[in-house]
Amino acid sequence: MTETPENHFNQPLSGNQMPRFAGQASFFRLPIQQDAEGLDVALLGMPVDTGTSNRGGARFGPRQIRTESVLVRPYGMATQAAPFDSFQVADIGDVAVNPYNLLKTIDSIETTIDKVLSAGAKPISVGGDHTCTLPILRSLAKLYGPMALIHVDAHADINDEMFGEKIAHGTVFRRALEEGLVEGSKMFQIGLRATGYAADDFEWSRQQGATVIPAEDCWYQSLAPTMDKIRDIIGPDMPTYFTFDIDGLDPSVAPGTGTPEPGGLTASQGLEIIRGCFGLRLVGCDLMEVSPPYDNSGNTSLLAANLLFEMLCSLPGCIRRR
Ligand code: MN
Ligand code: MN
Repeated sequence: MTETPENHFNQPLSGNQMPRFAGQASFFRLPIQQDAEGLDVALLGMPVDTGTSNRGGARFGPRQIRTESVLVRPYGMATQAAPFDSFQVADIGDVAVNPYNLLKTIDSIETTIDKVLSAGAKPISVGGDHTCTLPILRSLAKLYGPMALIHVDAHADINDEMFGEKIAHGTVFRRALEEGLVEGSKMFQIGLRATGYAADDFEWSRQQGATVIPAEDCWYQSLAPTMDKIRDIIGPDMPTYFTFDIDGLDPSVAPGTGTPEPGGLTASQGLEIIRGCFGLRLVGCDLMEVSPPYDNSGNTSLLAANLLFEMLCSLPGCIRRR
């Protein structure tokens, strides 16, 4: 490990020091520590799938994404971003969730994020099903108030209830808006598509002021101009949360998920969305809904790991080497 004045942070274990397939798997081969003390950015896992409505398996997401993340190297070649020269980052392990009780689980996620924030670190959370995003937003809103939200997903996740339950992976953003965690006029849902229960399923979001960008409006084009517009609307000072449900991408590139929908975004569009967040005041990010049992090749987890790397690169203050 080389120490230079501009590079005194944790560095990923090099593939020349220990083969990438060997050693302990942590996010990006970074050190693992018990809590977020001393960190600028804390990577943490949320092994939860008790909020899912179709296929399970997202509880294995954090572990598999750690495994596939060993191939991610420290510099972004297109953006020239150098996140590990910019921030002190570590893997702080998984939230100790309760697999028999979703409500207790989301409470312990909120408590964990409270601690990350009081240590002065930004959370980048790895799910786990999308229910996990609600307690993250609850914690962040205590510090920042209502936030802007960029939400990539095949689904709006704005059901009032599912099976009579208010807390589930498909109710998260209705709760977030009702609780005032997110500012409706600065909420963007990208990639929504497929089939619904009624033709106006996405209307509730729009009624709250949100901008819905269906997948069909993204087909066959770069999303860089869309992100330019979103950045203009949100502005550089508004605390902004970024949540990426992997099922926003097409099942051809991300089959390992519980609720796949055809006609989704491409991998490169996913990268464009995250790169287009650079310049916003991101206060936290997550990547949810990877289900390794449906991911025979490991490609979904590998893509997820790369998307998480891009989130690091888009945090405010990330150094660009050009
Ligand atoms: Mn979702
Ligand atoms: Mn979804």
